Amino acid sequence: MKLAIFGVGGFIGSNLVEHLIEQGEHEVVGMDVTKDKLAGIEGPNFRFVDGNVGEDVATAKELTAWADAVVDLIAYANPSIYVQSPLDVVQLNFFENMKILEYCLEAGTRLIQYSTSEVYGKRTRDEEYHDDHSDLVMGPVQKQRWIYASSKQLLERIIYAHGIRGDLEYSIIRPFNFVGPRFDYLVPAGSRGGPRVFSHFVSALLSGGPIHLVDGGGQHRCFTHIKDASEAFSAIVENPGGRNEIFNVGNPNTNITMRGLAELMTNIYEELTGKKPDNEIIEISGEDFYGKGYEDMDRVPPNVDKLRALGWEPTRDLDTIFREAIEYYLAPERHAAIL
Ligand code: UDP
Repeated sequence: MKLAIFGVGGFIGSNLVEHLIEQGEHEVVGMDVTKDKLAGIEGPNFRFVDGNVGEDVATAKELTAWADAVVDLIAYANPSIYVQSPLDVVQLNFFENMKILEYCLEAGTRLIQYSTSEVYGKRTRDEEYHDDHSDLVMGPVQKQRWIYASSKQLLERIIYAHGIRGDLEYSIIRPFNFVGPRFDYLVPAGSRGGPRVFSHFVSALLSGGPIHLVDGGGQHRCFTHIKDASEAFSAIVENPGGRNEIFNVGNPNTNITMRGLAELMTNIYEELTGKKPDNEIIEISGEDFYGKGYEDMDRVPPNVDKLRALGWEPTRDLDTIFREAIEYYLAPERHAAIL
């Protein structure tokens, strides 16, 4: 299969390319404005194109027409950006993504759209999130955190409507907190906002700075090893049952609170380095950490029966997920800049 990946230079894209090179079954072209995370990732079936899908329209359309499937990974996916720059979020996560949808419609190419588990919004019940049956519940407009989820939700609905009309073949992937090597970036001691929770906690462990527990740290998340996530991609793209369907990609067995995560990562860090961390734990409100308009939510585990029916099963546990991600940042050249 010929795959064109837009937004290939990020955390999910770079790991996906690594997986596709290892697999060696598909011809892959990736386009992005950055390629730092692709350093050293090379293979005979992968080519990188430097460019912006919204500006280098001819190239993006050419790649779309060449491909059997377009993979859309273009997104801002950090809650701090939703709060600080809501209009940039809607511009990139909705309007730029709409352009890719238009290219696919024009060329008759299948679209693999990465969305988000955030479309489910607030937890309203104790049931697992089901790809096809759960409600999607957002906070008020004044909580601009939800502009990201709203953008993704509308994009999903438009893609789905095209599927019903019969002019688009698609698959939608809803990631549940993927973690692994090359995730986000590190920050100096005491930083607020910025990257996601793993990066804050590992930065604190490396720098000795405080670990912030936002809104008490009782919120739950299920984390997914990036390799399980890449394998899910293959199951969805290669299997006829993956067509015109929406899939949760997550691991229901890794449910943990943020307080529990801080403890787990502290223990793993100690085992890996032989140094006992003594980071101060600071409880902080979401608005003080991210800014006005942030709203946190508790998340329930995903139901992944639809994906299991395609032969996929997440196999990496919490310890493996965080051990490998911490190990990646333990290399001195990767954390020297924050010390
Ligand atoms: N969080 C935290 N400390 C941090 C960073 C984040 O307690 O230093 C919390 C955040 O408020 C949320 C959870 O960790 O409850 C996960 O946040 P993240 O930004 O990783 O992703 P989300 O799942 O909200 O998109």
